[in-house]
Amino acid sequence: MKKNNLFREARKFLAGGVDSPVRAFKAVGRDPVFMKKGEGKYIVAEDGRRFIDFCLSWGALILGHNNPAVRGAVTAAVRNGTSFGAPTQSETELARLIISCIPSIERIRFVNSGTEAVMSAVRLARGFTGRDVVIKFDGCYHGHSDGLLVSAGSGVAGLARSSSGGVPEDVVRNTVSLPFNDPGSLERVITRDHKKIACVLIEPVPANMGLVLPREGFLEKVRKLTARYGIVLIFDEVISGFRMGLSGAQGVFGITPDLTTLGKIIGGGLPVGAFGGRKEIMDHLSPDGDVYQAGTLSGNPLTMAAGIATVKRLKERRKDYARMEKLVGDFAGEWQKCAPYTINHAASMFAIFYTKRPVSNYTDACGQDKNEFRAHYRRCLDAGIYLPPATCETSFISVCHGAGDLEKILRSACRC
Ligand code: PMP
Repeated sequence: MKKNNLFREARKFLAGGVDSPVRAFKAVGRDPVFMKKGEGKYIVAEDGRRFIDFCLSWGALILGHNNPAVRGAVTAAVRNGTSFGAPTQSETELARLIISCIPSIERIRFVNSGTEAVMSAVRLARGFTGRDVVIKFDGCYHGHSDGLLVSAGSGVAGLARSSSGGVPEDVVRNTVSLPFNDPGSLERVITRDHKKIACVLIEPVPANMGLVLPREGFLEKVRKLTARYGIVLIFDEVISGFRMGLSGAQGVFGITPDLTTLGKIIGGGLPVGAFGGRKEIMDHLSPDGDVYQAGTLSGNPLTMAAGIATVKRLKERRKDYARMEKLVGDFAGEWQKCAPYTINHAASMFAIFYTKRPVSNYTDACGQDKNEFRAHYRRCLDAGIYLPPATCETSFISVCHGAGDLEKILRSACRC
Protein backbone atom coordinates (compact mmCIF):
# COMPACT_ATOMS: atom_id res chain seq x y z
CA MET A 1 0.00 0.00 0.00
CA LYS A 2 1.31 3.47 -0.84
CA LYS A 3 2.11 5.28 2.39
CA ASN A 4 -0.06 8.33 1.74
CA ASN A 5 -3.03 6.02 1.44
CA LEU A 6 -2.77 5.00 5.07
CA PHE A 7 -5.43 7.39 6.28
CA ARG A 8 -7.79 6.53 3.44
CA GLU A 9 -7.40 2.86 4.32
CA ALA A 10 -7.86 3.52 8.03
CA ARG A 11 -11.08 5.39 7.36
CA LYS A 12 -12.55 2.29 5.76
CA PHE A 13 -12.37 0.46 9.07
CA LEU A 14 -11.86 2.89 11.95
CA ALA A 15 -14.50 5.49 12.77
CA GLY A 16 -13.06 8.73 11.44
CA GLY A 17 -9.84 6.84 10.74
CA VAL A 18 -8.54 7.28 14.28
CA ASP A 19 -9.03 6.12 17.85
CA SER A 20 -9.02 9.59 19.38
CA PRO A 21 -10.37 12.63 17.52
CA VAL A 22 -7.49 15.15 17.64
CA ARG A 23 -5.25 12.62 15.93
CA ALA A 24 -7.22 13.14 12.72
CA PHE A 25 -5.46 16.53 12.15
CA LYS A 26 -8.76 18.26 11.35
CA ALA A 27 -7.48 21.53 12.81
CA VAL A 28 -4.35 21.26 10.65
CA GLY A 29 -6.32 20.65 7.49
CA ARG A 30 -4.04 17.84 6.33
CA ASP A 31 -4.10 14.08 6.68
CA PRO A 32 -2.49 12.86 9.90
CA VAL A 33 1.06 11.51 9.88
CA PHE A 34 1.11 7.79 10.64
CA MET A 35 3.91 6.91 13.02
CA LYS A 36 5.86 3.71 13.30
CA LYS A 37 8.53 4.19 15.94
CA GLY A 38 10.12 6.56 18.39
CA GLU A 39 13.61 6.99 19.78
CA GLY A 40 14.40 9.57 22.45
CA LYS A 41 13.15 12.95 21.26
CA TYR A 42 12.38 11.67 17.77
CA ILE A 43 9.24 10.15 16.34
CA VAL A 44 9.45 8.46 12.95
CA ALA A 45 6.68 8.31 10.37
CA GLU A 46 5.73 5.34 8.22
CA ASP A 47 7.09 7.22 5.20
CA GLY A 48 10.49 7.57 6.91
CA ARG A 49 10.24 11.25 7.91
CA ARG A 50 11.72 11.95 11.32
CA PHE A 51 10.30 14.64 13.59
CA ILE A 52 11.39 16.17 16.88
CA ASP A 53 8.39 15.27 19.00
CA PHE A 54 6.88 17.94 21.23
CA CYS A 55 3.64 16.04 21.70
CA LEU A 56 5.26 13.00 23.36
CA SER A 57 2.11 10.91 23.47
CA TRP A 58 0.27 13.88 24.94
CA GLY A 59 2.78 14.36 27.72
CA ALA A 60 3.18 10.75 28.81
CA LEU A 61 6.75 10.29 27.57
CA ILE A 62 8.78 12.53 29.85
CA LEU A 63 11.76 10.18 29.39
CA GLY A 64 11.39 10.33 25.62
CA HIS A 65 10.43 7.49 23.30
CA ASN A 66 11.62 3.98 23.84
CA ASN A 67 13.59 4.69 27.00
CA PRO A 68 15.92 1.70 27.54
CA ALA A 69 15.01 1.28 31.24
CA VAL A 70 11.29 1.33 30.49
CA ARG A 71 11.67 -0.97 27.51
CA GLY A 72 13.78 -3.36 29.58
CA ALA A 73 11.25 -3.43 32.41
CA VAL A 74 8.32 -4.09 30.08
CA THR A 75 10.25 -6.75 28.18
CA ALA A 76 11.15 -8.51 31.43
CA ALA A 77 7.55 -8.34 32.64
CA VAL A 78 6.02 -9.67 29.43
CA ARG A 79 8.09 -12.85 29.72
CA ASN A 80 5.90 -13.75 32.70
CA GLY A 81 2.62 -13.10 30.92
CA THR A 82 0.48 -10.12 30.11
CA SER A 83 -2.30 -10.08 32.68
CA PHE A 84 -3.34 -12.08 35.71
CA GLY A 85 -6.51 -10.45 36.99
CA ALA A 86 -5.08 -11.01 40.46
CA PRO A 87 -2.92 -8.88 42.74
CA THR A 88 0.77 -8.52 41.91
CA GLN A 89 3.64 -7.05 43.91
CA SER A 90 4.28 -4.58 41.12
CA GLU A 91 1.08 -2.70 42.01
CA THR A 92 2.24 -2.27 45.59
CA GLU A 93 5.64 -1.16 44.38
CA LEU A 94 4.35 1.54 42.05
CA ALA A 95 1.86 2.66 44.73
CA ARG A 96 4.70 2.95 47.25
CA LEU A 97 6.82 4.95 44.81
CA ILE A 98 4.02 7.38 43.98
CA ILE A 99 3.04 7.84 47.61
CA SER A 100 6.68 8.53 48.50
CA CYS A 101 6.55 11.48 46.08
CA ILE A 102 3.04 12.83 46.71
CA PRO A 103 2.30 12.96 50.45
CA SER A 104 -1.41 13.85 50.06
CA ILE A 105 -1.94 10.36 48.63
CA GLU A 106 -2.28 7.87 51.46
CA ARG A 107 -4.03 5.19 49.43
CA ILE A 108 -4.23 4.79 45.66
CA ARG A 109 -6.05 2.71 43.07
CA PHE A 110 -4.86 2.08 39.52
CA VAL A 111 -7.15 2.16 36.51
CA ASN A 112 -6.59 2.19 32.74
CA SER A 113 -7.03 5.81 31.71
CA GLY A 114 -7.27 9.34 33.01
CA THR A 115 -10.96 9.32 32.16
CA GLU A 116 -11.57 6.37 34.47
CA ALA A 117 -9.46 7.92 37.20
CA VAL A 118 -11.47 11.15 37.28
CA MET A 119 -14.82 9.42 36.84
CA SER A 120 -14.03 7.17 39.81
CA ALA A 121 -12.70 10.00 41.97
CA VAL A 122 -15.89 11.98 41.39
CA ARG A 123 -18.03 8.98 42.29
CA LEU A 124 -16.00 8.50 45.43
CA ALA A 125 -16.36 12.17 46.39
CA ARG A 126 -20.11 11.87 45.96
CA GLY A 127 -20.25 8.66 47.97
CA PHE A 128 -18.12 10.16 50.72
CA THR A 129 -20.06 13.42 51.06
CA GLY A 130 -23.54 12.19 50.17
CA ARG A 131 -23.82 15.25 47.87
CA ASP A 132 -24.28 15.38 44.10
CA VAL A 133 -22.95 18.58 42.56
CA VAL A 134 -19.54 18.75 40.89
CA ILE A 135 -17.86 22.05 40.22
CA LYS A 136 -15.34 22.19 37.41
CA PHE A 137 -13.74 25.01 35.46
CA ASP A 138 -14.26 26.14 31.87
CA GLY A 139 -11.57 24.82 29.58
CA CYS A 140 -10.35 22.17 32.00
CA TYR A 141 -10.62 18.68 30.52
CA HIS A 142 -11.15 15.68 32.72
CA GLY A 143 -11.66 12.87 30.24
CA HIS A 144 -14.77 11.88 28.36
CA SER A 145 -17.10 10.55 31.04
CA ASP A 146 -20.63 11.86 30.47
CA GLY A 147 -21.01 14.11 33.47
CA LEU A 148 -17.77 15.98 32.86
CA LEU A 149 -18.29 16.84 29.20
CA VAL A 150 -19.72 20.17 30.07
CA SER A 151 -18.98 23.19 28.00
CA ALA A 152 -17.91 26.53 29.13
CA GLY A 153 -20.99 28.40 29.76
CA SER A 154 -23.16 30.48 31.78
CA GLY A 155 -20.83 30.30 34.74
CA VAL A 156 -22.87 30.54 37.83
CA ALA A 157 -25.96 29.15 36.13
CA GLY A 158 -27.46 25.97 37.46
CA LEU A 159 -28.16 24.21 34.19
CA ALA A 160 -25.11 23.09 32.29
CA ARG A 161 -25.08 22.03 28.65
CA SER A 162 -22.97 19.12 27.48
CA SER A 163 -20.38 19.75 24.81
CA SER A 164 -21.01 16.31 23.32
CA GLY A 165 -23.92 14.64 21.63
CA GLY A 166 -25.28 11.60 23.42
CA VAL A 167 -25.16 13.09 26.89
CA PRO A 168 -28.63 13.56 28.39
CA GLU A 169 -29.29 16.87 30.15
CA ASP A 170 -30.13 14.91 33.25
CA VAL A 171 -26.58 13.59 33.44
CA VAL A 172 -24.98 17.02 33.45
CA ARG A 173 -27.58 18.63 35.69
CA ASN A 174 -25.22 18.30 38.62
CA THR A 175 -22.15 19.70 36.88
CA VAL A 176 -21.37 23.38 37.22
CA SER A 177 -18.59 24.90 35.13
CA LEU A 178 -17.03 28.18 36.30
CA PRO A 179 -14.34 30.45 34.87
CA PHE A 180 -10.80 29.52 35.86
CA ASN A 181 -8.82 32.13 37.81
CA ASP A 182 -12.02 33.77 39.06
CA PRO A 183 -12.27 33.25 42.83
CA GLY A 184 -15.34 35.50 43.07
CA SER A 185 -17.62 33.25 41.02
CA LEU A 186 -16.47 30.19 42.94
CA GLU A 187 -17.09 31.86 46.27
CA ARG A 188 -20.59 32.91 45.22
CA VAL A 189 -21.58 29.41 44.11
CA ILE A 190 -20.03 27.66 47.10
CA THR A 191 -21.52 30.06 49.62
CA ARG A 192 -24.95 29.57 48.08
CA ASP A 193 -24.92 25.83 47.29
CA HIS A 194 -22.34 24.22 49.57
CA LYS A 195 -24.80 21.73 51.03
CA LYS A 196 -25.19 20.20 47.56
CA ILE A 197 -21.57 20.32 46.42
CA ALA A 198 -19.62 17.05 46.58
CA CYS A 199 -16.38 18.20 45.02
CA VAL A 200 -14.44 20.86 43.23
CA LEU A 201 -12.49 19.29 40.38
CA ILE A 202 -9.62 21.28 38.95
CA GLU A 203 -6.52 20.99 36.82
CA PRO A 204 -4.21 23.01 39.07
CA VAL A 205 -2.21 24.00 35.99
CA PRO A 206 -4.74 23.64 33.18
CA ALA A 207 -3.12 22.12 30.11
CA ASN A 208 -6.17 21.48 27.96
CA MET A 209 -6.90 25.06 26.88
CA GLY A 210 -3.32 25.45 25.89
CA LEU A 211 -1.40 26.01 29.11
CA VAL A 212 -2.82 28.42 31.66
CA LEU A 213 -1.23 29.31 34.95
CA PRO A 214 -3.22 29.78 38.13
CA ARG A 215 -3.10 33.40 39.30
CA GLU A 216 -1.43 33.96 42.62
CA GLY A 217 -3.77 33.02 45.43
CA PHE A 218 -6.37 31.28 43.24
CA LEU A 219 -5.58 27.69 44.23
CA GLU A 220 -5.22 28.76 47.87
CA LYS A 221 -8.70 30.26 47.70
CA VAL A 222 -10.09 27.07 46.16
CA ARG A 223 -8.54 25.03 48.98
CA LYS A 224 -9.81 27.41 51.67
CA LEU A 225 -13.38 27.45 50.42
CA THR A 226 -13.61 23.69 49.93
CA ALA A 227 -12.11 22.99 53.35
CA ARG A 228 -14.52 25.39 55.03
CA TYR A 229 -17.59 23.57 53.70
CA GLY A 230 -16.39 19.94 53.74
CA ILE A 231 -16.22 19.82 49.93
CA VAL A 232 -13.76 17.30 48.48
CA LEU A 233 -11.02 19.01 46.50
CA ILE A 234 -9.83 16.89 43.57
CA PHE A 235 -6.65 17.91 41.78
CA ASP A 236 -6.65 16.41 38.31
CA GLU A 237 -2.93 15.91 37.82
CA VAL A 238 -3.21 13.54 34.87
CA ILE A 239 -0.89 15.92 33.01
CA SER A 240 0.81 17.87 35.80
CA GLY A 241 1.59 14.81 37.94
CA PHE A 242 5.33 14.02 37.68
CA ARG A 243 5.47 16.77 35.04
CA MET A 244 5.49 19.90 37.23
CA GLY A 245 7.91 18.03 39.49
CA LEU A 246 8.03 14.78 41.47
CA SER A 247 5.15 15.90 43.67
CA GLY A 248 3.15 17.45 40.87
CA ALA A 249 1.51 20.87 40.86
CA GLN A 250 0.42 20.36 44.46
CA GLY A 251 4.07 20.17 45.50
CA VAL A 252 4.98 23.30 43.54
CA PHE A 253 2.11 25.37 44.92
CA GLY A 254 2.14 23.82 48.39
CA ILE A 255 -1.56 22.91 48.36
CA THR A 256 -2.89 19.62 49.70
CA PRO A 257 -5.93 18.31 47.83
CA ASP A 258 -8.17 15.58 49.27
CA LEU A 259 -7.98 13.44 46.14
CA THR A 260 -5.58 13.43 43.19
CA THR A 261 -5.97 11.86 39.79
CA LEU A 262 -2.96 10.74 37.79
CA GLY A 263 -2.28 9.16 34.39
CA LYS A 264 0.14 9.50 31.48
CA ILE A 265 3.67 9.63 33.02
CA ILE A 266 2.97 7.04 35.74
CA GLY A 267 2.31 4.46 33.00
CA GLY A 268 5.52 5.14 31.08
CA GLY A 269 3.53 5.21 27.82
CA LEU A 270 1.24 2.27 28.55
CA PRO A 271 -2.48 2.74 29.27
CA VAL A 272 -2.92 3.96 32.84
CA GLY A 273 -4.76 6.12 35.31
CA ALA A 274 -4.85 6.30 39.08
CA PHE A 275 -6.69 8.12 41.81
CA GLY A 276 -5.74 8.42 45.42
CA GLY A 277 -5.80 10.60 48.46
CA ARG A 278 -6.82 10.71 52.08
CA LYS A 279 -7.26 7.25 53.58
CA GLU A 280 -10.49 8.32 55.22
CA ILE A 281 -11.99 8.97 51.78
CA MET A 282 -10.33 6.08 49.93
CA ASP A 283 -11.71 3.65 52.54
CA HIS A 284 -15.16 4.27 51.06
CA LEU A 285 -14.15 2.39 47.91
CA SER A 286 -15.22 -1.20 47.47
CA PRO A 287 -14.29 -3.78 48.68
CA ASP A 288 -13.93 -1.95 52.03
CA GLY A 289 -16.61 0.63 51.35
CA ASP A 290 -19.81 0.97 49.35
CA VAL A 291 -18.56 3.01 46.38
CA TYR A 292 -18.14 0.54 43.53
CA GLN A 293 -15.19 0.68 41.17
CA ALA A 294 -13.42 -2.12 39.28
CA GLY A 295 -11.32 -3.01 36.21
CA THR A 296 -10.38 -6.24 34.40
CA LEU A 297 -6.96 -4.95 33.39
CA SER A 298 -6.39 -2.44 36.20
CA GLY A 299 -2.87 -2.61 37.64
CA ASN A 300 -1.75 -4.51 34.57
CA PRO A 301 1.77 -5.92 35.13
CA LEU A 302 3.23 -4.42 31.96
CA THR A 303 1.93 -0.97 32.82
CA MET A 304 3.15 -1.29 36.39
CA ALA A 305 6.62 -2.30 35.16
CA ALA A 306 6.78 0.71 32.83
CA GLY A 307 5.51 3.01 35.57
CA ILE A 308 7.99 1.77 38.15
CA ALA A 309 10.90 2.19 35.75
CA THR A 310 9.75 5.71 34.85
CA VAL A 311 9.12 7.00 38.36
CA LYS A 312 12.36 5.44 39.65
CA ARG A 313 14.34 7.14 36.92
CA LEU A 314 12.66 10.49 37.65
CA LYS A 315 13.43 10.13 41.35
CA GLU A 316 17.05 9.22 40.68
CA ARG A 317 17.58 12.14 38.31
CA ARG A 318 15.41 14.81 39.83
CA LYS A 319 17.80 17.51 38.55
CA ASP A 320 16.33 16.87 35.11
CA TYR A 321 13.24 18.82 36.18
CA ALA A 322 15.24 22.01 36.73
CA ARG A 323 17.15 21.50 33.49
CA MET A 324 13.95 21.03 31.46
CA GLU A 325 12.32 24.02 33.13
CA LYS A 326 15.27 26.22 32.25
CA LEU A 327 15.26 25.07 28.63
CA VAL A 328 11.59 25.90 28.27
CA GLY A 329 11.94 29.17 30.21
CA ASP A 330 14.81 30.34 27.99
CA PHE A 331 12.90 29.35 24.89
CA ALA A 332 9.78 31.22 26.03
CA GLY A 333 11.92 34.29 26.74
CA GLU A 334 13.34 34.24 23.22
CA TRP A 335 9.91 33.59 21.77
CA GLN A 336 8.48 36.63 23.50
CA LYS A 337 11.25 38.77 22.01
CA CYS A 338 10.70 37.82 18.41
CA ALA A 339 7.59 35.76 17.70
CA PRO A 340 4.24 37.33 16.96
CA TYR A 341 2.19 35.07 19.26
CA THR A 342 1.64 34.64 22.98
CA ILE A 343 3.34 31.82 24.85
CA ASN A 344 2.65 30.39 28.32
CA HIS A 345 5.03 27.98 30.01
CA ALA A 346 5.53 26.00 33.19
CA ALA A 347 8.11 23.33 34.02
CA SER A 348 8.70 21.30 30.84
CA MET A 349 5.48 22.47 29.16
CA PHE A 350 4.60 25.36 26.90
CA ALA A 351 1.69 26.46 24.77
CA ILE A 352 1.76 28.80 21.84
CA PHE A 353 -1.44 30.84 21.47
CA TYR A 354 -2.13 32.33 18.07
CA THR A 355 -3.10 35.68 19.50
CA LYS A 356 -1.15 38.68 20.80
CA ARG A 357 -3.20 38.91 23.99
CA PRO A 358 -2.29 37.29 27.30
CA VAL A 359 -4.21 34.08 28.06
CA SER A 360 -5.39 33.30 31.56
CA ASN A 361 -8.69 31.52 31.02
CA TYR A 362 -10.78 29.66 28.48
CA THR A 363 -12.33 32.76 26.93
CA ASP A 364 -8.84 34.15 26.24
CA ALA A 365 -7.73 30.77 24.86
CA CYS A 366 -10.67 30.65 22.46
CA GLY A 367 -9.68 33.94 20.86
CA GLN A 368 -6.99 32.43 18.66
CA ASP A 369 -6.51 32.84 14.95
CA LYS A 370 -7.04 29.35 13.57
CA ASN A 371 -5.52 30.24 10.20
CA GLU A 372 -2.32 31.43 11.86
CA PHE A 373 -2.19 28.16 13.79
CA ARG A 374 -2.66 26.12 10.64
CA ALA A 375 0.03 28.00 8.74
CA HIS A 376 2.54 27.78 11.58
CA TYR A 377 1.76 24.14 12.25
CA ARG A 378 2.36 23.19 8.64
CA ARG A 379 5.63 25.14 8.57
CA CYS A 380 6.77 23.26 11.67
CA LEU A 381 5.76 19.89 10.28
CA ASP A 382 7.62 20.56 7.06
CA ALA A 383 10.66 21.54 9.14
CA GLY A 384 10.58 18.24 11.04
CA ILE A 385 8.83 19.49 14.17
CA TYR A 386 5.85 17.58 15.52
CA LEU A 387 3.63 19.71 17.77
CA PRO A 388 0.21 18.72 19.14
CA PRO A 389 -2.08 19.09 16.13
CA ALA A 390 -4.66 21.56 17.47
CA THR A 391 -4.94 24.90 19.20
CA CYS A 392 -5.70 24.67 22.92
CA GLU A 393 -3.16 21.89 23.41
CA THR A 394 0.08 21.89 25.36
CA SER A 395 3.53 21.00 24.06
CA PHE A 396 6.03 19.04 26.11
CA ILE A 397 9.72 18.35 26.18
CA SER A 398 11.42 15.24 27.51
CA VAL A 399 14.74 14.65 29.25
CA CYS A 400 16.13 13.94 25.75
CA HIS A 401 15.39 17.41 24.32
CA GLY A 402 17.98 20.17 24.14
CA ALA A 403 18.08 23.91 23.47
CA GLY A 404 18.72 23.33 19.76
CA ASP A 405 15.40 21.51 19.40
CA LEU A 406 13.43 24.40 20.80
CA GLU A 407 15.41 26.83 18.63
CA LYS A 408 14.00 25.06 15.59
CA ILE A 409 10.50 26.10 16.69
CA LEU A 410 11.75 29.67 17.08
CA ARG A 411 13.14 29.62 13.56
CA SER A 412 9.80 28.42 12.25
CA ALA A 413 8.02 31.47 13.62
CA CYS A 414 10.53 34.28 13.85
CA ARG A 415 11.86 36.34 11.07
CA CYS A 416 14.75 37.52 13.28
N1 PMP B 1 -7.56 14.68 32.87
C1 PMP B 1 -6.66 15.47 32.25
C2 PMP B 1 -6.15 16.68 32.94
C3 PMP B 1 -6.24 15.15 30.97
O1 PMP B 1 -5.37 15.96 30.35
C4 PMP B 1 -6.74 14.00 30.34
C5 PMP B 1 -6.31 13.60 28.94
N2 PMP B 1 -5.47 14.40 28.28
C6 PMP B 1 -7.65 13.20 31.03
C7 PMP B 1 -8.03 13.57 32.29
C8 PMP B 1 -8.19 11.95 30.41
O2 PMP B 1 -7.19 11.01 30.29
P1 PMP B 1 -7.31 9.80 29.22
O3 PMP B 1 -7.18 10.41 27.86
O4 PMP B 1 -6.18 8.90 29.59
O5 PMP B 1 -8.63 9.16 29.44
